[in-house]
Amino acid sequence: MNTNGSRPHHNGFSEMVSSDSLNVDPIADSHLRTKGSVAIPGSFGNRASEITQCQLTRHQYAQLPENGVSATATESTEENLAAQAVATAPSLSSCDLSIHEEGSKKIIVTGAFPPSHRESGVLVETIRDPQRPGRMAFLRWENGNTTLLNSVERDGHKFVPPDPLSRSFPLLSLPDGVRPCGHSFEVLEEIASTISKFVTLRPDRYGVVAGFVMASWFPDCFEAAPYLWIIGPLGSGKTKLLKLLWALCRRGLIAGDLRSGSVYKLVDVWDPTLIIDEFEQGSSAAHVELLRLLRTGSTPGVPTFRNGRPFSNYGLKIIASRQPLADAALLSRGLIISLLPTKSETPPLDEATLQKVEQKLQRKLCMFRLQNHAAVKNFSNFPDTFNGLSPRMRQITRALLSPLLGVEPFTSELLEVLEDYDDEVRIDRSLEPEWLVAEALMAVCHEGNKSRRFELGLLVSDVSNEVNQMLRYRHEDLRLSAKKVGMVLKALGLRTTRLGRSGRGFRLTPTLNRRIHEIAMQLGIDRRALATTMGLQIYYGGARCVLCEELGLEAGLRFTDQDLFPQLE
Ligand SMILES: [Zn+2]
Repeated sequence: MNTNGSRPHHNGFSEMVSSDSLNVDPIADSHLRTKGSVAIPGSFGNRASEITQCQLTRHQYAQLPENGVSATATESTEENLAAQAVATAPSLSSCDLSIHEEGSKKIIVTGAFPPSHRESGVLVETIRDPQRPGRMAFLRWENGNTTLLNSVERDGHKFVPPDPLSRSFPLLSLPDGVRPCGHSFEVLEEIASTISKFVTLRPDRYGVVAGFVMASWFPDCFEAAPYLWIIGPLGSGKTKLLKLLWALCRRGLIAGDLRSGSVYKLVDVWDPTLIIDEFEQGSSAAHVELLRLLRTGSTPGVPTFRNGRPFSNYGLKIIASRQPLADAALLSRGLIISLLPTKSETPPLDEATLQKVEQKLQRKLCMFRLQNHAAVKNFSNFPDTFNGLSPRMRQITRALLSPLLGVEPFTSELLEVLEDYDDEVRIDRSLEPEWLVAEALMAVCHEGNKSRRFELGLLVSDVSNEVNQMLRYRHEDLRLSAKKVGMVLKALGLRTTRLGRSGRGFRLTPTLNRRIHEIAMQLGIDRRALATTMGLQIYYGGARCVLCEELGLEAGLRFTDQDLFPQLE
């Protein structure tokens, strides 16, 4: 993507619409651009100075790029003393304004308005300044009114937007204002139809990708950020799809082959929707580090420490590669979109077209965020919507469904596709050693209650036999040796002890029983894994289990005190 620098977005900032919420990101320059000639247009006047006590917590310091990594990260020139204020989820932060300085130069501030604060309902976005091409501005939103600001003052600090011409400014997709966006389903349809013009996907995947794009505008509203895995060989249109996603997602940022050090920094400072192209698997240190970034990047409020410094790498991410990642646990944090080389002709996506898409849809999506931020944040799906979904898929589903605000039939259709995804993931994972062993242990726990087969203890070789019996039953060629099972047990944190002469194993204590249930829960295994084929057809799961009930592993099945089909299978 080489659209660097001049991006002539001149259009007016005239459309103002009404509704209820908002979010801003300033980057301030504490030295050079202090006070003075800042014109604050509109009715807002000097109320910028009234923005006090806002809640600002996450903070990071702009640093020299380490290891000579691309200068897109941040640069410590005198002219580039930036501070950024980003509204984030109030629940994640405390209520005190904190502005952190390092040396005397760089200030980066992020934060949010707590709900009880008189400024709740105020959001600020950093946008391209529609009146001064090549500059940035803040868009303040309150009760449906927008105001364009060139700076925001808080507690004697003045925040000004970043300079997009500086070398430290990454190529982010940004709106240059807002325009009416319509209802959630209209936004969804427009995104889906835009994508379908340029890229060929399986028909039911357009809604998934569009749902992901909408979710990217509300990362501060979710308990986990989903990933999107774009898998396909060369010539499958991957790059085109990534460019489109860059233009559509909130603060899209394509990281080519950035080394992980700079990726941490970029994500921490900009809260982008990170797009990683050509993520190829290997054993290099950079690759391992990138995996770590991805593992910690889907949960908010969990910083990663690098060189003793905390970085937040939370955010939605899009990762493109030729092969799916060989890490089922990490894969389960996202949805896979597979692309195949296609004969159907789609028009090329040149820079001019891409800019048009970016300009039009960024404005609409920005408006959609501002209008619906509170509604999306507080949106609760019907409790039984998620029945039967694995825990990871529940989080993904919540992120993709919330922006739709329950509008039918779009919500149900998308949910149906996500349920299919969940089944596929389950099948993929069911052959991973950890899953096999955990499933076998669950079977033993529940069967052990009936048959007392393992009353004297459960040997590692018993577990191995259970696993292999399961595999035979599924007509799989794979077998796990007792040695391999022993290693997996260790990896799952289950310690075996010597059981007399017969070898190593466990006693099936209530504590172990609970631990096995907890492991099953963490791996997304539920009672469907133990149900018979006949049972599943009638939504019957077998004998009731207190622990399964407590940990929510029932997967929507019905249970009875005594298993009705104890002899089957
Ligand atoms: Zn149970």
